[in-house]
Amino acid sequence: MKRSQRKRRISWIDVTFSIAIITLTFAAIYLITQKTKNEALATSGKENVTTVIIVDTIDSSYPGIKIVTETSNDAISPFAIQYPQSVHQDFNDEVTSYIETAKQQYLTTINQQQEVNGKTAGELNISFETVPHDSGIYSFIIKKDRFIDKSNQKKEIHVFHLNPETGNQLTVEQLFNEDPNNLKQLSSIVRNTIYKDPMLQENLDLQNVHIATEELWNNFNNFALTNDHLRFYFQQGAFSADELEPPFAVIPLKEINTMLADEFKLPLDESQMTDHATKTLENEIESTENKEVTNPGSESNTIDPIVDGPKRVALTFDDGPDPKITTQILDILKKYEAPATFFMLGSRVEYYPEIAKLVQVAGHELGNHTWTHPDLRKLSVEKIQSEINQTTAIIEQETGQKVTAFRPPYGAINQTVRSQTSLPVALWDVDTLDWQHHNPTKILEIVKQQTKDGSIILMHDIHQSTADGLDAVLSFLQNEGYVFVTVSEILNK
Ligand code: ZN
Repeated sequence: MKRSQRKRRISWIDVTFSIAIITLTFAAIYLITQKTKNEALATSGKENVTTVIIVDTIDSSYPGIKIVTETSNDAISPFAIQYPQSVHQDFNDEVTSYIETAKQQYLTTINQQQEVNGKTAGELNISFETVPHDSGIYSFIIKKDRFIDKSNQKKEIHVFHLNPETGNQLTVEQLFNEDPNNLKQLSSIVRNTIYKDPMLQENLDLQNVHIATEELWNNFNNFALTNDHLRFYFQQGAFSADELEPPFAVIPLKEINTMLADEFKLPLDESQMTDHATKTLENEIESTENKEVTNPGSESNTIDPIVDGPKRVALTFDDGPDPKITTQILDILKKYEAPATFFMLGSRVEYYPEIAKLVQVAGHELGNHTWTHPDLRKLSVEKIQSEINQTTAIIEQETGQKVTAFRPPYGAINQTVRSQTSLPVALWDVDTLDWQHHNPTKILEIVKQQTKDGSIILMHDIHQSTADGLDAVLSFLQNEGYVFVTVSEILNK
């Protein structure tokens, strides 16, 4: 009896104690967990107590412009940002909106990577340069340099414009009087500048350049205006995949002075001075090019034409220009220092004027192959004339070089067609049939069988197989002792 009473009392005490201990344990676990959680948050950088963000505003050396600086020393997502502000709300809002977007994208990307990879670190630097123009307009060139885990680096340039006195911002439309003809010229000038830039030339993707410089005002809105030139910025990777910086094209104002709105035109005397300076530069470039041509390694240039001169052959390329194939062919011709004749279609020159220009710059003869490639014998005299004349006009307009030969499509010609042009008609005697078989080695076979002194070889600069087979053809002809000449040189002998 006693024993059982005691037993019951003990068990009651046991239960009470047990409940107390369990409660305390849970409380302790809860507290420890909370503490760990807080520590985890602190080290993840989200609520790092040691991170300091400083925002500071100072006057710049340009009246009416303040410089805002924001820095964060966060271990995982540090940044240093600098941007301009003024007394004009519209301008300020546009700039801060750009900066906020850049900052948020950076922080979001790091947080996302953090969740996937665990450890991610990045850096964001935004700085800017102020370029003044005599009209009172400032160009603020904002340079964004962001990397995340080093492998993921991205550079960007964005230009804002402001006249701090009036609050006016400048667009490329306003700069060029909103004139579509000016846009057309600008597109062509910028394109040609990019093609001729030796810094860019190596790895240019011509089709990408064509797209990036199409006749759209938006393509040219990222510009900086100085008193001497206009600089157009493009996206990193816009012209070639391995660009380390956003590419840009510099256009001297002198070249586009007549296209500019009055308030941005150069003063008369200054435009003349710049004109002179540019001419001197052009002369220098020319003389450098001459030096290259007469380099001691190439003896073909020093051989005078004599009666029993070397065998001659003319290479001709029809139906271009083509942004991909024509440029490949130009490279191969350059390797052999071989001049050639390109019979171009007016419709393609209209679409790829910069490629036609490249052919001219490389020193080749330019030929007319009609606008739409018809059988001219089936057309009226008026149609024949417009096919030929329009094509000559656009080739000469885009390249600045005279058209010196004509080739009718399919070689289809009669007396009516012949009498519609004063250009010499150039047919061929070696037909590589490249358009038919698309076989690079077959081109060489035909050339080997049919070429003789004075031959004119027909090929097309629109087929990849032609570009692929050309090096072997040139190598063969050169080894056989042939000298490469233009069609006109063969016709005139
Ligand atoms: Zn053709």
